[in-house]
Amino acid sequence: MTTKERKASAARHLIESILAVMVPDGTEEFKQMVQKKFQLVDSWTTGSSEDLNAIMNEVSAQYMSSESRVNRILILSLVANSVSYLKVEQYIPGLSAYMYNKAKKFARRNRNTDLTETKTVVKYNKEAVESFVDFITSPVVMVGLPYGVRNVKLSDGSKIEIPNSIRQQSAKEIIEMYKSVWEDNNESDLPLGTSTMYKILSHCTATKRESTTCVDYFIATGMESFDGLHQIVDYWNDLSLFDAEVTKQMKDELFYAAQYLRTDYRLHIKNSSRISDHCAIFSLSDTSNGKLSETCTQGPEKHFHDLRCDRCERTNAILDKIETHAKEFVAEEEADPTLADGSMLIKHKEELDLIRKYKKGILEMKKHLLRAAVTNKERQTITEELKDNEALITLDFAQKFLPKWHREKQVDYFGKKGISYHIAHTSANVSGVPVQHSFVHIYEGSVTQDSRLVVPTIAHFLKELKKVGVTKVHLRSDNAGAYHSAATLGSLYWLMEETKMSIESYSFSESQNGKSSSDRDANRVKRRVKEYINKGNDVTTSSQFFDALKANPPNGISVYHGKVTITDEGATQWKGVSNLNYFTIEQKGIRARRYRNIGEGVLFEKKHLKPIKGVDEFADEAGFLASNIDSDAMRKAEREAVEKGLQTKFWYTPKCAKKSNCLKEPDEVSTTIVEDVPSNVIGDLYSCPEPGCSSTFLKFFNLEKHILRGKHNIAPERMTERDYALNYFARRLEDANAADSCPIVSTAVKQMKETTPDGKLLEGWALPTKAVRKTFGKEVVKFLVECFDQGVKNKKPMNPFAVEKMMRDSKKFNVNDLLDGRQIAGFFSREADKRRHAATSTSSATSVAPSAAVTQQKKQKHRRSLRTRSHHGKHRRRHAEVANTGEDYSISEEEHPDAGWIRFLKIEEFWDLSDEFYSATFENRDTIFSQK
Ligand SMILES: [Zn+2]
Ligand SMILES: [Zn+2]
Ligand SMILES: [Zn+2]
Repeated sequence: MTTKERKASAARHLIESILAVMVPDGTEEFKQMVQKKFQLVDSWTTGSSEDLNAIMNEVSAQYMSSESRVNRILILSLVANSVSYLKVEQYIPGLSAYMYNKAKKFARRNRNTDLTETKTVVKYNKEAVESFVDFITSPVVMVGLPYGVRNVKLSDGSKIEIPNSIRQQSAKEIIEMYKSVWEDNNESDLPLGTSTMYKILSHCTATKRESTTCVDYFIATGMESFDGLHQIVDYWNDLSLFDAEVTKQMKDELFYAAQYLRTDYRLHIKNSSRISDHCAIFSLSDTSNGKLSETCTQGPEKHFHDLRCDRCERTNAILDKIETHAKEFVAEEEADPTLADGSMLIKHKEELDLIRKYKKGILEMKKHLLRAAVTNKERQTITEELKDNEALITLDFAQKFLPKWHREKQVDYFGKKGISYHIAHTSANVSGVPVQHSFVHIYEGSVTQDSRLVVPTIAHFLKELKKVGVTKVHLRSDNAGAYHSAATLGSLYWLMEETKMSIESYSFSESQNGKSSSDRDANRVKRRVKEYINKGNDVTTSSQFFDALKANPPNGISVYHGKVTITDEGATQWKGVSNLNYFTIEQKGIRARRYRNIGEGVLFEKKHLKPIKGVDEFADEAGFLASNIDSDAMRKAEREAVEKGLQTKFWYTPKCAKKSNCLKEPDEVSTTIVEDVPSNVIGDLYSCPEPGCSSTFLKFFNLEKHILRGKHNIAPERMTERDYALNYFARRLEDANAADSCPIVSTAVKQMKETTPDGKLLEGWALPTKAVRKTFGKEVVKFLVECFDQGVKNKKPMNPFAVEKMMRDSKKFNVNDLLDGRQIAGFFSREADKRRHAATSTSSATSVAPSAAVTQQKKQKHRRSLRTRSHHGKHRRRHAEVANTGEDYSISEEEHPDAGWIRFLKIEEFWDLSDEFYSATFENRDTIFSQK
């Protein structure tokens, strides 16, 4: 026997004796469990190099097409411990050592989850399913969902099914996370067995991906555009227009581009940069107004845009390349009509149109990501600069709550009215400690979510905040019409006078960004109400909704129930207000900029403001109330509690519920880009959901703390970018491409260099595209109403992106009439609102506010009519009649282009990911659960 074999034999004996001690009566079984852990890795290392090549190609394809960082680490972890970095890097060019090392450590982690566990099969347990689905769809956990795993089209049929391995691994991760959070927070046993959770996960992830479940409109459109380009390239491949190698290169480049934009691009954005693709000042300066722009070539950070980023250029190159091919195919068909019957010419022309549309969708996503990076930074700066007793408040309407008629029951919820509630998430500095609190306002009856509701609500919680000692606030929200309007901004001075609270600024975040904290609190609220319903209570009215929260208020949340009454309608007119995003309140007026620190801003004088005024009547209150600490002695005690990290009466700081398990983890932040994996990450379960952040934690509450603090660790997924001086650009890029073995890019770059000027970015390139305001034609309205009815019939609203495609494919409409998913979503939300009002107009006498669709002028007029005629409710019928003509569907000039989409996400009918998952679980309950 060789030495090695002898050692192996000795080790085997040793292991067996250890096992005998550890698990005396289940050694065999346990041994299998131990071995199972090594099997996955083994399967990659045995076999020929041909096998390895096939596996690595599949891993690389999955890695490239995966949409979340956690999933990419997970995919890498399947091979990281058996394949060297250099080898992996051959298949995933540019892979950073950071990602590789992280995957290595991730693979070594001890997992206790055995998916084959055969516990007693349980009966369908609605409450347990809801709790689990809520957990897996919560913003923090979402990232690890094996939802993004795609069936990537590969030329050969490889034997090992990587997507399944990835799904299994992801499922293990998620189940482990759920177990850990459950054990930290609950006394009782897990409500679901491991195998049940696994079955739920596999049914959920098998559901069809729908764009609406991705709430970020720009990302949904951008990613669909990439999918569309893949389809076109696949089709060209089927026609044998290229050989397989070229097809593969193009597809790889598409994956590479999509991933770059989704991950590292936002890490490259700087306030000022020598690369025009990365320079915030340059890309967001409004050249039409000197006060809203800033010159890069002046000031302390003056610079020229004389560098290019290879990754941005590479992205442009592949998109241009595909367009060029399409143009060539069209030209070839046109030049030689004998080629075929002309049907190919039509086909290629359509392709060219589509490619242009997709390129636009991708560019819009890039602009959006840049704006998101810039506005996230704004938010971070505000938080960092908060002084003692100052707060940042994020305002948001939660999706209207449709209780009782739970969706899985498949009842007709169209036309049913949901309960409106508003969340004001406050993060404050109290004696140097970051703390938070959320105000939840529940409104009586049917309300319209507009400025007239928001302004008195703000007045209410500012008065409450005053009681706990907060002296100055910054307000922030998304671009919903209720916030981003002249009416709300025009009321800021009145709010200050009314509440004696100083308001420093009002800023708007890029759509679907920076509201994870209010989303999280909306989830906590919804969860409590569902628990209350599952205990056998009814929640069909706003008072019952309030009672549900009163019975068991979540930590750090105060709940109010009541109504607001408007005493002055206000009439501020502010042209162009929807283009402005950053408002600071000065002595003489409101200074407005497009983005923070860009330009001196325009001053809107105080004397022109005609504020909305109102009275709040929130008669019911419960939870962690500010009125509990309404005295100097109480405020002092509260401060001391915050300083000492003790339980407080108002503020919330993330805490671990069980004393025994509370491990405080360090949260160190590096200000430069992280290249090394810190040694403490091996066992960490929870990854920060902030894009680009590499922080991970073992305990959920430590992650919560990290998010609240808002300081993130940035680590790129690929090697540090190389920026190229323009003069050396082409040559250096060719060098890089030699290593990449990717000739199509270098060819494309050469061509681009020859035709440079028109490819150059213009100042202000990332500003939102001006929305085309148009009145929908009669035929368009008819078509959309039919689609809406289809949704009513199927008891599930149609996906606006699918409708967009149907519109295009039907060929019934000319190009100018075509609408995009955002406009369609806006239409659906208005239609739903309209029908709800029509359905209830005969039964209820509560005031009905105008639909958000009417223009500003109409709104004013309508409000006047509301005031004068509110006693005889006829206006409602008038409202319904108007809607049958096309006229009602023009969008107000001063409404932000994202407002319609945001409204769609808030209506009762909107299906989010958790709805998809509940329904998938419910439909498969017989296979998941026992039938007893
Ligand atoms: Zn610049
Ligand atoms: Zn770049
Ligand atoms: Zn983070």
